[in-house]
Amino acid sequence: MSNDSVGELNPGHDQDQGHEQEATKADSDWRKELDPEQYHVLREKGTERAFTGKYWDLKDAGTYRCAGCGEPLFSSETKYDSGSGWPSFYQPADAASVKELADHSHGMIRTEVTCAKCDSHLGHVFPDGPPETGLRYCVNSASLDFEKQEEGEWE
Ligand code: FE
Repeated sequence: MSNDSVGELNPGHDQDQGHEQEATKADSDWRKELDPEQYHVLREKGTERAFTGKYWDLKDAGTYRCAGCGEPLFSSETKYDSGSGWPSFYQPADAASVKELADHSHGMIRTEVTCAKCDSHLGHVFPDGPPETGLRYCVNSASLDFEKQEEGEWE
């Protein structure tokens, strides 16, 4: 069981603090296991530039897993073209697979989305999504690992 609400809803939470207290791995391990861009996005809440990630335009059927821990986070079935330049989904694979936290950084009020299992930063959720849910989960490609669905493998 993880009880990792440290930093949640804390406007003063600084991105340079708080990785190490509750993270499932030591910071040095994350640095070893992730490439520099993934480390910056996942562990320092960075954002890749729009239209540069590997998945923003991918339309293949499959599962988007957390690049930090492998947990399934989003299905291609809920991916849509938001025009933003980042992979966009209208809902997570499972409501419990992501966490949503208030984010007051950069002078904006946003809702950050993290992996519920490993606390890695994924992106933000905005209330301007398609009719299915009205939500837009705007996720960095760097936070995701796509697993293509084999023919006839849909469950
Ligand atoms: Fe994760």
